[in-house]
Amino acid sequence: MSTAATNALRAELRTAPAAAREPAPPAAFAPAQGDELRAVDVSKSFGGLKALDQVSLALRPGEVHGLIGPNGSGKTTLLNLLSGYYQPTSGEIRLGGEDLSGAPVRRRAAVGVARTFQKPRLLPMLSVLENAVLGAWTHAQAGFLATTFALPRVGREDRELMDRAAELLHGVGLGHVLHRRANLLDHAEQRFLEIARALAMRPRFILLDEPAGGLTPQEIEHLADVIRTLQGSGIGVLLVEHHTDFVFRICDRVTTLNVGRMIRHGLPDEVRNDPEVIRVYLGA
Ligand code: ADP
Ligand code: MG
Repeated sequence: MSTAATNALRAELRTAPAAAREPAPPAAFAPAQGDELRAVDVSKSFGGLKALDQVSLALRPGEVHGLIGPNGSGKTTLLNLLSGYYQPTSGEIRLGGEDLSGAPVRRRAAVGVARTFQKPRLLPMLSVLENAVLGAWTHAQAGFLATTFALPRVGREDRELMDRAAELLHGVGLGHVLHRRANLLDHAEQRFLEIARALAMRPRFILLDEPAGGLTPQEIEHLADVIRTLQGSGIGVLLVEHHTDFVFRICDRVTTLNVGRMIRHGLPDEVRNDPEVIRVYLGA
């Protein structure tokens, strides 16, 4: 994929995330844990099934954090807790000093936590541009449907959101299909559209659930470029992924889950060579 595209993305992201541009609080009020997005000893049960058991993870701004483990080990559940789709049975989700454990998805969006889905969830009959803009509108807290149906009569603020969404789409390599209906995109294009939609929220953290799933090696390289660009702009990236070569190559730190428990956390080389990780996952 062209470097020109990722350069455009870099330029667009240089207008820092909204939340990050707010003036810093006085040092005395600065949260001890800085601006990390953290899961602290979280457990999540579904009926009798303990999908997560006392798991902790800290996602730092500007880092790519891998989350790996066998199917059913709780990766998506943890992502759902961090993004507010689920609430923990016990434990806390925190962003800096704020306890987000009970906060709805909308609140996560407002503080800058965005996500993509393991199976892309797009509005199939809307265009690529409209889907991406909806990410920004969520951030702007506008009425979802009201705004959608008002598309032909967009105001100045909306126009700016549209322009920015278009830039982001160029940046992820979708500049040539802005007006195509989302259901006509191929699988990889849908995945990149989900990323652009998440970025339209101006997130500080983006949580990607198996973004490389179903992508060709070439498309995975493009994804790596996009993720590095996000990282370079200070966004913290949580990467849930089964392509372990890709994970170990691109991540700063990696956490491994197995049946709901954290079995290893550390630098890629430490995790890759850990006998327990090899036994339950990598060697399988
Ligand atoms: P992974 O993403 O690592 O494959 P998940 O987090 O999706 O794993 O699932 C972890 C466990 O929790 C699995 O046993 C799964 O069946 C269960 N689970 C996940 N979500 C739900 C849910 N909404 N209701 C019931 N069980 C769930
Ligand atoms: Mg999953």
